[in-house]
Amino acid sequence: MPKQVDFLVVGSGIAGLTFATKSAKHGSVLVLTKKRKADSSTNYAQGGIAAVFGENDAAEFHIEDTIKAGEGLCHEEAVSIMVRDGPTLVKELHSMGCRFSMNSKGNFDLAREGGHSRRRIVHAKDYTGQEIERVLLEETKKAGVTISENEIALDLVVQDEGCTGIYYLDANTRQIDVIYANATILATGGVGQVYQHTTNPPIATGDGIAMAYRVGAKIANMEFVQFHPTAVFNIKIDGRAFLISEAVRGEGGVLKTKDGIPFMNKYSEAGNLAPRDIVARACLTEMLTTDSKYVLLDVSHLEADFIKNRFPTIYETCLSWGIDITRGPIPVVPAAHYLCGGILVNEWAESSIPRLFALGECSCTGVHGANRLASNSLLEALVFADRAARRVQNIKNIRFTKQRSMKTTAKIGPNLMFQIKEIMDRYVGLLRSEKKLREAEALIDGFYRLFEEGIHIINAESRNVTVVSKLVIESALKRKESRGLHYMTDYPNKNHSFTTDTITKISDPN
Ligand SMILES: Cc1cc2nc3c(=O)[nH]c(=O)nc-3n(C[C@H](O)[C@H](O)[C@H](O)COP(=O)(O)OP(=O)(O)OC[C@H]3O[C@@H](n4cnc5c(N)ncnc54)[C@H](O)[C@@H]3O)c2cc1C
Repeated sequence: MPKQVDFLVVGSGIAGLTFATKSAKHGSVLVLTKKRKADSSTNYAQGGIAAVFGENDAAEFHIEDTIKAGEGLCHEEAVSIMVRDGPTLVKELHSMGCRFSMNSKGNFDLAREGGHSRRRIVHAKDYTGQEIERVLLEETKKAGVTISENEIALDLVVQDEGCTGIYYLDANTRQIDVIYANATILATGGVGQVYQHTTNPPIATGDGIAMAYRVGAKIANMEFVQFHPTAVFNIKIDGRAFLISEAVRGEGGVLKTKDGIPFMNKYSEAGNLAPRDIVARACLTEMLTTDSKYVLLDVSHLEADFIKNRFPTIYETCLSWGIDITRGPIPVVPAAHYLCGGILVNEWAESSIPRLFALGECSCTGVHGANRLASNSLLEALVFADRAARRVQNIKNIRFTKQRSMKTTAKIGPNLMFQIKEIMDRYVGLLRSEKKLREAEALIDGFYRLFEEGIHIINAESRNVTVVSKLVIESALKRKESRGLHYMTDYPNKNHSFTTDTITKISDPN
C-alpha cells in the first residue's frame, strides 16, 4: 500500500469510481473501500439515471421538476450544472459499455418515474446500478487505479494545508496507519443503516459524514432523509430490505390497502406517481388507519411477459419468496432510502476544509433541496465526480518533507447499532414531533458520550452511526416546519422563515 498518493478516494460506488477513472490521467490514485469492490448502494440501484434525451424533453423541464421537488431549498446553479452536464456523461457510460435498455429506434428506452414531467430515466432493465458499477470497475482497471479492498477509513488527517490524508485500519496488520494525499475524496455513500428498515446495504453507516464532522467540516440538511414507499414487507437480504423500484408504478403499478382498495388518488392528483414523500406518508397513514403492517403494490393487471422482461430482478426475487407478482400484489412498507443532506460542498465538490472533497450521497451539493427527485442521485454523483476530477488538476502539491506526528492511540467503543436503529425508527421516522425528537436526542446523546476522543478501531461504524443519528436529530429539531421529506406533526405547514439550509459544525474539532 502506498503511503502517499496524489488523490486518495474513500469508496468504490459510482462517485468514487467515476472520480478515480477520470483523475488517473492527472496523478496517482488510490481507492480504499471497506468491503469488496462492488459492495455499495450503487450496485443495487434499480430504476435508473435521469437525463434529458426525450424528443419532448428539455433541460428546462428537468430543472423545473427538480426544483419543484426540492421545495425551495435547491441550489439552482448546482441543479443547472447537473442537468446540463448529465446527458454527455450518461452517453459516455454507454460508450464505455454500459448496456442500457434501448428502444426499437436504437435510442435509450426512457422510463417514467414520480415527479418527472417527462420520460427521462435511462435504465438497464431493473439492474442499472449493477451495470454501471461493472463498467466503472473495468474502467478503473484500464486506467491503472489501485483499489484496496477491506480497508476501512477511520478519520481524516487535518494539518495547516487542510486535509492531508486519512487514518485507516490496515487489513493485514490490524494497526492504524496513515496515507497522505494532495487531495482526499470522500465518496462513502449514505446513512440508511441508521434505521432498522432500510433499502441500503450494510456499508451505509455514514462514515464519511461522521469523519468530516469530527474535523470541523460543515454538514448540511441532515433532517432530509428520504423513505422509499415500497420495500418488500418483512424480508431482508444481507441486512437490507428489498426495494420495489418506483419504475414499477411508472409502468402502471397501483398501491392498495391490505383489503385491495386503491388509495393514492386521495392523497395527490398525481396518484401513484406522486413524489416519494407524499407516497411514503400515504402508505404509513393507510397502515395506521387500517391497522395493518403493510400496504399492497399490484402489477398483476399488466402483461406477464412485460413484467418479466422489464423487471427481471424484481420478478425473480419476489418469486423466490413465493410472491408471483404477475398473479398477485406485493406487501410493501416504507424504508429509509436516501440522504439529501451531507458534507456541504460547492459546485466543484469542495468541502469547507481545503483539499477535502465530497462526492455522491455523502455530499450535499444542494441539488436535491428538501426532497430528491427519483433517479437524480446517480446523476448527481456522476456529474460532480467529473467536476472534482477536473478541479484537482489545479491543486498544488504538498511537500511532505517534515516528519508528521501521527495520533494512533486506538480506542474501542461499544456496539450500539441495534439500539440506535430502534430509536431512529421509533422517534425519527416519517412522522416526527418535537417531543419524539427530544426523547431521541436524550437517548442518542447518552450513547454519544460513551465514545472517547481518539481513533476507534473496534466498532468504528457504531460510533459513526451515533454521530450521524445525532446530526439528523439536531437538524430535525432546528427545522420547526414541514417541508419536503421532513414532516413534523406539530408544525404541519411550511414556514418561509426556514427557507434556508440547516448547517451544522462541531464547535471543537479534534
Ligand atoms: C436499493 C437502492 C436502489 C436505488 N435506486 C436508485 C436509482 O434507481 N436511481 C438513482 O439515481 N439512485 C438510486 N439509489 C440511490 C443511489 O444508488 C445512491 O445514492 C448512489 O449509488 C450512491 O453512490 P455513492 O458512490 O455516493 O455511494 P455508494 O455506492 O454507496 O458507495 C459507497 C462506497 O464507500 C465505501 N465506504 C463507506 N465507508 C467507508 C469507509 N469508512 N472506509 C472505506 N470505504 C468506505 C463503501 O464500501 C462503498 O464502496 C438507490 C439506492 C438503493 C439502496
